[in-house]
Amino acid sequence: MDVTGEAGRPAGRTLRIADLLGPVTALGPGRRLGLWVQGCPLACPGCMSRHTWDPRGGREIPVERLADAWRRALADGYDGLTVSGGEPLEQPAALAELLAAADRERRAADRTDADLLVYTGREEDEIAASPEAWAALELADAVVTGRYRAGEPTRLVWRGSANQRLVPLTPLGQRRYAAHLRREADHTELQVRVTDTDIQVIGVPQPGELASLERELASRGVTFRENTWRP
Ligand code: SF4
Repeated sequence: MDVTGEAGRPAGRTLRIADLLGPVTALGPGRRLGLWVQGCPLACPGCMSRHTWDPRGGREIPVERLADAWRRALADGYDGLTVSGGEPLEQPAALAELLAAADRERRAADRTDADLLVYTGREEDEIAASPEAWAALELADAVVTGRYRAGEPTRLVWRGSANQRLVPLTPLGQRRYAAHLRREADHTELQVRVTDTDIQVIGVPQPGELASLERELASRGVTFRENTWRP
């Protein structure tokens, strides 16, 4: 999805992001706009998104331009916005502004059925102890919380490890996510996106899936010079 936005608009607050893609179907229900925030200090062993750790990486995008992308996604019938990372709560003021803009856009488009889902590596008690984090998540309909723990695999949808919790925060979040709180994946829900230089894996892999993808690609003569899930 193009995030170039409308030329000439004055830049407001920016969010440093790693990527913005749509439609994403592997991180929440339906067709979604996926936004990966750049910068994460949590360094979970086994993280598949190590390229999002560096807080100086990625690119800074004005929130207004991200809101433009969300407006176009809504017009295209998308079901929701997923903010992942990286660690979104490392940029709490920009996250709050993004969610406020996303909420305004869905109301303006009469699309209040479109939900806002945020992934964070912060634990619930860490969020509860941080007024900034609470304020940033005020308009999120649901959150997935907790560090990724490679030693605690799970088949629960949209979670990488068994300790992570999917928590609805609003009535829309309840309606959208109640059926998925304990739902286990019966098939892979990964998306694989191929560009001229990269193979992107979107979603939360089941144990062994990345290794099996690598083996499958190697059997077809495709090997990685580097990847984001190994140091
Ligand atoms: S799994 Fe998430 S929280 Fe953990 S290091 Fe990776 S991006 Fe950060």
